[in-house]
Amino acid sequence: MLKILFLSTSVGSLGSGQGGGVELTVQNLAQELLRRGHKLEVVAPEGSFLTNIRVTAIAGNLQIPVQTQSRDVSICLPDNSVLANMWDYARKVQHKYDLLVNFAFDWLPFYLTPFFDTTIAHLISMGSMTVASDRIMNQVIQQYPGTFGVYTQSQADTFPFADNCEILSSAIDLSLYQYNDTPEASLAWLGRIAPEKALEDAVAAVNITGTPLKIFGKIQDQDYWEQICRDFPDAPIEYQGFLTTVELQQALGKCRALLMTPRWIEAFGNVAIEALACGVPIIAYHRGGPSEIVKHGKTGWLVEPDSVTGLVEAINKIDRINRQLCRQQAESEYSLAALGDRFETWFNKLINN
Ligand code: UDP
Repeated sequence: MLKILFLSTSVGSLGSGQGGGVELTVQNLAQELLRRGHKLEVVAPEGSFLTNIRVTAIAGNLQIPVQTQSRDVSICLPDNSVLANMWDYARKVQHKYDLLVNFAFDWLPFYLTPFFDTTIAHLISMGSMTVASDRIMNQVIQQYPGTFGVYTQSQADTFPFADNCEILSSAIDLSLYQYNDTPEASLAWLGRIAPEKALEDAVAAVNITGTPLKIFGKIQDQDYWEQICRDFPDAPIEYQGFLTTVELQQALGKCRALLMTPRWIEAFGNVAIEALACGVPIIAYHRGGPSEIVKHGKTGWLVEPDSVTGLVEAINKIDRINRQLCRQQAESEYSLAALGDRFETWFNKLINN
């Protein structure tokens, strides 16, 4: 039995959608570790909510999401920073735990690592973002080899320390996602509505094919969203809001395919495995996490990055994909049990060193 302290992302409360896929990772990993009998405390910004898991809420101002900033941005903390407050709490309780796990993609937890007595595992949730964070991460990994976990090889490859990362993939609670064999005509687009996700490419594609597109997710950048609506006034799109997992899987299962059009190197793309679990094939740019998930021609189509024409061609042949194979892939590769095994092995290795 391990005693573990989780320190969540500091860009938003858990359940808000502001933290993106890492919110689901915290929920799923916490749930699986508790099921295995480990002792766990989750520390997160005030207002956080996890299903069936208590959260230690910390007050303070949120961090600005790093992906909205330039590569050479300075290290920045707001007054009364929630990130600083969370790590202050961690410093006080660290001796009750075998291991601390950092989920924040931020300079501060890396910088603080040598000042802590308890080992810190860092779950890195994005690819390389800023010069300052790359530098501090590179310093920490030299001093504490083995302490960085990432989702995929494509993500690791964005960093100077690619060979020094534990590849952990991701998972979902498959029991929450129902297989749907009888989709309606609509396609789905799912995620934070922000420039790095390039929703405009998906909208441009359905503007050509005339296929209805349902859009799910948090509008993180309102100006960006309004610009898309202005650029494609007649596109057959319908914004559905930010849904809970239960609502989302129901609506998603009815869609013919999921379009994934990220402009950046997506670290993983939790939405991909959520779609597969519902039996929904994926059309994704051949880049980053989705290119390691989608089995081209079997569970979806990988198309040339940034090519709207490529998306259109894939939409036109989506019915060649067997939805059962999608659910099967989710079951064989993305179960919580498999994720729990990988993390337990990693954590035990860190503690025994
Ligand atoms: N999501 C959600 N409700 C929605 C749309 C999205 O809960 O209506 C969640 C989705 O389940 C996924 C996350 O938002 O866990 C997006 O994560 P992903 O890894 O795809 O991308 P990120 O935001 O981390 O870049």
